[in-house]
Amino acid sequence: MVTVDVVLSKCTGCAHCRDVCPVNVFEMRPKDTFADVTDDPEVAAKFQFRGERSAVINGPDCIMCEACLFECEGECITIVDDEGTLHASTYK
Ligand code: SF4
Ligand code: SF4
Repeated sequence: MVTVDVVLSKCTGCAHCRDVCPVNVFEMRPKDTFADVTDDPEVAAKFQFRGERSAVINGPDCIMCEACLFECEGECITIVDDEGTLHASTYK
């Protein structure tokens, strides 16, 4: 089973993951609905944090298209595929 994860402290709320995912793995939710989310200072130096964060709601549906991995500003998405290989996001 594919496992998708978001490091919330690095998630800027850009919603790119939600917008590019063909199988609706992500849902944007207000930051204050997550417990104890801080803004990562290294990410904050490069990008503006918005009021939302990305929640993984359908990780097992991921088809490994990798679109979100290239669109994630915070480089905070990781995916472990069926064979246990870790894929980390790199913003392009
Ligand atoms: S790699 Fe998976 S989670 Fe990311 S956009 Fe593609 S289907 Fe969605
Ligand atoms: S693309 Fe990355 S930074 Fe942007 S909302 Fe999704 S998880 Fe957060």
